[in-house]
Amino acid sequence: MATGAVHTRASMVLALPTGAAAWIGYDWWVGVRSVPVAAGAMLGCLTGIFLTPDLDIEAVTGSEWTIIKWTLGLGWLWVLFWWPYAWVFHHRSIWSHLPILSTVIRLLYVALVFSLWWWVLSVLVAAVTFMFGNGSYWLPEVNPASMWAFCMENFEWAFGLFFGLAVSDFAHWLMDAAPLRGMKTVGNEL
Ligand SMILES: [Zn+2]
Repeated sequence: MATGAVHTRASMVLALPTGAAAWIGYDWWVGVRSVPVAAGAMLGCLTGIFLTPDLDIEAVTGSEWTIIKWTLGLGWLWVLFWWPYAWVFHHRSIWSHLPILSTVIRLLYVALVFSLWWWVLSVLVAAVTFMFGNGSYWLPEVNPASMWAFCMENFEWAFGLFFGLAVSDFAHWLMDAAPLRGMKTVGNEL
């Protein structure tokens, strides 16, 4: 079973070939040489280091510690954000680990939970501005529909990012699954 550090390295190594594959594939498929698709795919693959299938682990993982350190503690919000996900999905269940399906579920989770947090934030801002001002404020509207519309407006970026993330998740699944069975190291089952 691969550890978090091994998954991280795999996503880093895969980023460049994934970008190249996206560039060639999109050109072949759509007939467009798209920089956003290629760059998005590279970025999506690297995003997989943090938006990982192992967010289904309730304990704070290596990648989460990295975020907490880099953000001077703000990363605890990230841990909190994913806590319900870890609580609902068992570690290495098909919902969090099966290629494509788990990638889609994780992105849906981001859209829904982020929208919920955003909604709570706007209620708080409304209350505070009402108490200390004339109650007028402006926050952009963020909800799953507006996020989807944004992705469609920036389709090539969104497509590339999804592709890259899916590749990262696919590699994660392969490394967690059959090929490495028998190399299980006790206590290191990330
Ligand atoms: Zn895993």
